[in-house]
Amino acid sequence: MARAMTLNLPIAEIVLAGPRGFCAGVERAIDIVELALDVCGSPVYVRKEIVHNPYVVETLRTKGAIFVDELDEVPDDATVIFSAHGIAPAVRDEAQHRGLRVIDATCPLVTKVHLEAIRYAREHYTIVLIGHEDHDEVIGTLGEAPERIVVIDSAAEVERLEVRDPEKIAYLTQTTLSVDDTRDVIAALRMKFPKIVGPSRNDICYATQNRQAAVKTVADDVDVLLVIGAKNSSNANRLVEVAENHGTRAYLINDVRDIRIEWLANARRVGVTAGASTPEVLVSETIETLRHDGVQVREVRAVEEDVRFALPQELEGMARERNVTVPARDVMRQAI
Ligand code: SF4
Repeated sequence: MARAMTLNLPIAEIVLAGPRGFCAGVERAIDIVELALDVCGSPVYVRKEIVHNPYVVETLRTKGAIFVDELDEVPDDATVIFSAHGIAPAVRDEAQHRGLRVIDATCPLVTKVHLEAIRYAREHYTIVLIGHEDHDEVIGTLGEAPERIVVIDSAAEVERLEVRDPEKIAYLTQTTLSVDDTRDVIAALRMKFPKIVGPSRNDICYATQNRQAAVKTVADDVDVLLVIGAKNSSNANRLVEVAENHGTRAYLINDVRDIRIEWLANARRVGVTAGASTPEVLVSETIETLRHDGVQVREVRAVEEDVRFALPQELEGMARERNVTVPARDVMRQAI
């Protein structure tokens, strides 16, 4: 399906879920790459996708970023940025050993989970990390204490779980899980290991929770929900599941070209939302394509967001060294 075309569908209303799209960690990570290009010049290297969205990656590539999978693809003396999902300490050590200039774009909310893992490991806990073992974030957190962390992703796995000392067990979670599924896993853990400890709330971040709350708010109101996000975006996939658990058909699309007409053939009200790494331009394109004369567009906001994270000090240090001014940035305004 071509961009910016309109479709002849019986849609009467488009319901936009809010909040949707970029979270504070993603905005910060993208800003870091753009500012690093301003400060250091092109190219700068980025280990892994800076955030899980091909449009974002491609846009930054055209500006001079080079994306690599591992540090051995980065030349000596280069500047390398670590992605928003975080890294294992072994990666940081390797960069230091190589003498690379590093800017860490790990989201502060992911760093918080790493610090919890380090603390529990020091206190000799077995740490149950609830998450998807192949996700970059989980790989990074696991790397903090691989001998102490066991990764599970469902309540069913709790039954088979054996730990060294059931009196000394803690849990942590990936930041982008389903709030409802995670609640079930934690309940199963508490049932099996009554002494288990964990964060005061779970580690699912504010942005994941808010986007899922927004989907729940619009799910009953629409015949079908389009979730704009990448296939490897954990939080976008969870939005599809949340809608489906509410009995609403939902489809994950990278952009408007992925829409299949048959999905919308009988839909009068179409919901639209976007994962935390999806730029708003992809939402606008989708609306533009779906709307025609008489179609109403209504936004339903489940909650307002006001979160912004400070830039990493190393970037500001590099800017000072080169006499480049980094634009002023408000720091985080909402407690994590
Ligand atoms: S989804 Fe949450 S944890 Fe991930 S980058 Fe955004 S704010 Fe940070």
